[in-house]
Amino acid sequence: MHIEAVKAPRHPAYRNIADAEWNDWRWQMSAGIRDIDKLTNCISVSAQEKEGMRRAGEAYRWSLTPYFLGLIDPFDPTCPIRLQVLPDERELFDPDGLEDPLLEEKHSPVEDMIHLYPNRVALCVSDSCAAYCRHCFRKRRTLRKPRPDSFDRALEYIKGHSEICDVLVTGGDPLMLSDEILHDRLSRLREIKHVKILRIGSRLPATLPMRITPELAGMLAEFHPLYLNTQFNHPREITAEAAGACDILSRAGIQLGNQSVLLKGVNDRRETLMELFQKLLLIRVKPYYIFHPHRQRGTRHFRLSIDRGLELMDSLRGYLPGMAIPTYAVDTPHGKVPILKDRIVSNDDNGTRLRTFDGEIWFEKKED
Ligand code: SF4
Repeated sequence: MHIEAVKAPRHPAYRNIADAEWNDWRWQMSAGIRDIDKLTNCISVSAQEKEGMRRAGEAYRWSLTPYFLGLIDPFDPTCPIRLQVLPDERELFDPDGLEDPLLEEKHSPVEDMIHLYPNRVALCVSDSCAAYCRHCFRKRRTLRKPRPDSFDRALEYIKGHSEICDVLVTGGDPLMLSDEILHDRLSRLREIKHVKILRIGSRLPATLPMRITPELAGMLAEFHPLYLNTQFNHPREITAEAAGACDILSRAGIQLGNQSVLLKGVNDRRETLMELFQKLLLIRVKPYYIFHPHRQRGTRHFRLSIDRGLELMDSLRGYLPGMAIPTYAVDTPHGKVPILKDRIVSNDDNGTRLRTFDGEIWFEKKED
């Protein structure tokens, strides 16, 4: 197992780009790949696949950075990075998929703000991402522009609800905003006395690590306690650049967690998850949640059974430290439901029989 984070390879099409440009997140965004012909000049696909990509790309927003393109094996149609970000004809065949699987619209008293749990809200401040995940449970949201006044309206709502003590700033990806706009948004949230905790959800440490500059981290550190949860789904995403981005954030005192999604064909193997979680710990990112795939329309090809998910997660126990194993959860319109394979073999008046990771049965006597 290769645990060491290595520098991301560059696709040959970008070999001549100067490092100063390559390492500039604004250059990466301006050079973003959004055209199927440009993409298929870099990735080997059949004419039929290309046509399917074109149609899926018209139905759901897509693009990726040259940096993330470099992580894709151009000759492997099953490449786990490719599956996550390139449009795929299979997105168009999902009769059981739901437009809004978590009923977020129903839980939005103000547009672009979700109030599901009693004392916290999620605020969508951006509709853009550096790379659009094909498994995204907000595929519908990244198709539409937020209302220009939605942040102001959400702020008024939060001010009027003193029970809200925790705000998750999300999107799209909030770190797609400029430092100045993000500073303005966070300052205005911090001015609300009852908001004690700020959290940011961003995938940019994985898809555009150059966005994490010391200036950005210094600015975010003004708003402690502030937490950042990111999304690495495959160990190949943990490059030296991604490790560097996480290091900058950690040094600014920002505690980092990872929220993966369990995805068929991407990370549904024990060895892949073992490597992913070990590498995350090495870059000081705590594996926090791994979500069962949402029933979002257009994601059928990623879905697997809960039994398979439980079996995979259970197989890690004893082989990884507890802090490397995230909570496996099903996200529902009523909140997250953590799930764990049952290790109780029997339970009666005498005590409880438990199955240990190495297959032994341990008897824990009942206390009087
Ligand atoms: S980065 Fe997040 S919001 Fe953006 S497409 Fe991926 S999962 Fe969706």
